[in-house]
Amino acid sequence: MDDKCILLHVCCAPDATHSLKVLQEKYNFEIYMYFYNPNIQPREEYKKRYDSFLKLSKQWDIPYIEAEYNPEDWFKITELYKDEPEGGARCFLCYKNNLFYTAKKAKELGIKYFSTTLTISPHKNADIINSIGEEVAKLFGITYVPENFKKNDGFKKSIEYSKELGLYRQNYCGCIYSKMEMERKRKVSYANVSNNSHTGNRGKEYRGQ
Ligand code: SF4
Repeated sequence: MDDKCILLHVCCAPDATHSLKVLQEKYNFEIYMYFYNPNIQPREEYKKRYDSFLKLSKQWDIPYIEAEYNPEDWFKITELYKDEPEGGARCFLCYKNNLFYTAKKAKELGIKYFSTTLTISPHKNADIINSIGEEVAKLFGITYVPENFKKNDGFKKSIEYSKELGLYRQNYCGCIYSKMEMERKRKVSYANVSNNSHTGNRGKEYRGQ
């Protein structure tokens, strides 16, 4: 592999759009995408996001490396933290798992750099993700590229790209626990809407990972 190659962990196609632009324009990287996301459940949702990822790969001609889908292993790793709120200990393990297997794959392929699209999410702390990335990089003797893709309106730009490209946009982070949390909040929101007798946000908007 060329010295300018990077393996980019992609959590979803919308989040990848602006992140790809940054890695190309700021670093001139030759990018390979890696959709390793055992945290996305149920399987039908994984398929929708994966198909959208393939669509982006084709539309922008960005190559990708095949990844396995092993949610059973993910459940084993996170089961003690299933009741944690989004943004807590379960999420740190989840980031670490995805970054660990991305770094492992990069090492196997002789790719010296890796990074992740996760930092584009307004719901995620880029400093925490980047420190996990650095920690994992040391285990494999490769380099993590720390970024905060949400900077400079990155998230807003990703939504605009996604609309242009017709990419599927999800309304919960990924795991079954975040789906249940979203559905709970939606019920409360519906109840408030009917109590207040006005139409409002129905909780179906795109929220990124
Ligand atoms: S909420 Fe998102 S980041 Fe947290 S564990 Fe679930 S999928 Fe992973």
